Amino acid sequence: MEKKVRVRFAPSPTGGLHLGGVRTVLYNYLFARQNNGDFIVRIEDTDQSRFVAGAEEYILDTLAWCGLEPDESIKHGGGFGPYRQSERKETYKKYADALVQKGYAYYAFDTPEELDAMRSRLRTDENASPQYDHSVRMQMRNSLTLDKQETERLLSTIPYVVRIKMPEGETVSFTDMIRGEVIFDTAVVDDKVLLKADGMPTYHLAVVVDDYLMQITHAFRGEEWLPSAPVHILLWKYLFGLEAMPQWAHLPLILGPNGKLSKRDGAKYGFPVFAMNWKDPRTDEVTEGFKERGFLPEAFINMLAMLGWNDGTEQELFSLEELVQKFSIEKVHKGGAKFDFEKAKWFNHEWIKKLPASNYKEAVKSIFESRGLSIQDDTYFAKVLELVKDRCTLLPDFWEHSFFFFRQPREYNTDAIKIKWNIDKKTFFESFTKAMASINSWSAASLEALFQQLATQAEIKAGELQLPLRIMLVGGKFGPPVFHIAEVLGKEETIDRIEDALLAFESM
Ligand code: GLU
Repeated sequence: MEKKVRVRFAPSPTGGLHLGGVRTVLYNYLFARQNNGDFIVRIEDTDQSRFVAGAEEYILDTLAWCGLEPDESIKHGGGFGPYRQSERKETYKKYADALVQKGYAYYAFDTPEELDAMRSRLRTDENASPQYDHSVRMQMRNSLTLDKQETERLLSTIPYVVRIKMPEGETVSFTDMIRGEVIFDTAVVDDKVLLKADGMPTYHLAVVVDDYLMQITHAFRGEEWLPSAPVHILLWKYLFGLEAMPQWAHLPLILGPNGKLSKRDGAKYGFPVFAMNWKDPRTDEVTEGFKERGFLPEAFINMLAMLGWNDGTEQELFSLEELVQKFSIEKVHKGGAKFDFEKAKWFNHEWIKKLPASNYKEAVKSIFESRGLSIQDDTYFAKVLELVKDRCTLLPDFWEHSFFFFRQPREYNTDAIKIKWNIDKKTFFESFTKAMASINSWSAASLEALFQQLATQAEIKAGELQLPLRIMLVGGKFGPPVFHIAEVLGKEETIDRIEDALLAFESM
């Protein structure tokens, strides 16, 4: 029987989620959905010194905002828990011991001072940071150099680590789903620590043991993990057999204006790099997120999907459902994908236009509320957003394009109409309001027809009257087509605004 597809996103809870991390989530999620598989989030918190409070919740909240809910996680539960590695601590030691028993790993007792001494002894111009590897292991204090009795004694008296014994002259290879055949020379890899002195595994051991125990079939992760792959492959070979190993895919880096996109690039160039705002609890420093900048999750996801992938056609706009249908991990590009903020904004603009405004009305509402405007009538609000959405790129843009629907103008910018304003025009608007009061159908088209008809009767060019009308309704030379504004404002408000403006224009 075919194994059920199971993929995982395995973040370390060390801070906000970089857009590259969300792209890794997305590709995992798409692959799981298209194969009727499971998508698991596993918290890799074995490095307790890097643990940051709040990061786990932030990661899960981010996935919820993106609509990429896991099937199993610390929040969603599941049959393969616990999903936090620190709670699985006891699991790992037996695998580390088994590796030592089989001769693939060893106990090392070197103190930090001894390690420093080794490094300064071996440091040369060509080798600036000497590693603990096959060339030095036999000069160090470990179970390979000490006899059995001494090893036993030290194991029960002083702190120790378990290190992998990297073979010297072997090559390790695997087939990456994106890169094809990848080959490593084991001699260049150091004897990585697998189990630390505090009894916690390192990432290398934990990732292999957990991928095995959680029956992961495919492991997609960032390219920065490629150098660690030979260690993981050997661990698979030694512990569980290569047949059980997941298929790997190492995703290309996301590039900023100069090399790998970093949080610092965001600050420097003024664009978000994190998915949502992240407040570092240690410094209270806030790093801006795409969400708070005014991105829709649909656009964010779509933009991320295209950073390193396309379906071979010109199509750029994809919904999540469409991505599930069309995405293919084999078509992900090998080379780094360049992040372009202008393009990201283009995606957002397209999605604002494409979706019904009711989809993002709540998000816009809270932006308006933060500017001191509370929305009373939801239906009216949605109508306004629908009318102006084509002009908005980011959600906060809705403010400048629609605030005047909620506030009658207090001032009128009449510079453009001042000189030509006269009594005939005033009379025209008086008759227009009177006629409006008695019409039954209230629509942009019927208002425009009425306006035209009255203008013809008054022998004034309708074009000359439209700008004054606009200024009466919104206060200045801005906004969507004027009869649409009136349609949305409604009869009573439109008439009110014109009457108030006519009064104000007395002193023009
Ligand atoms: N814990 C690793 C990280 O923080 C996960 C790497 C992997 O997926 O194997 O990115």
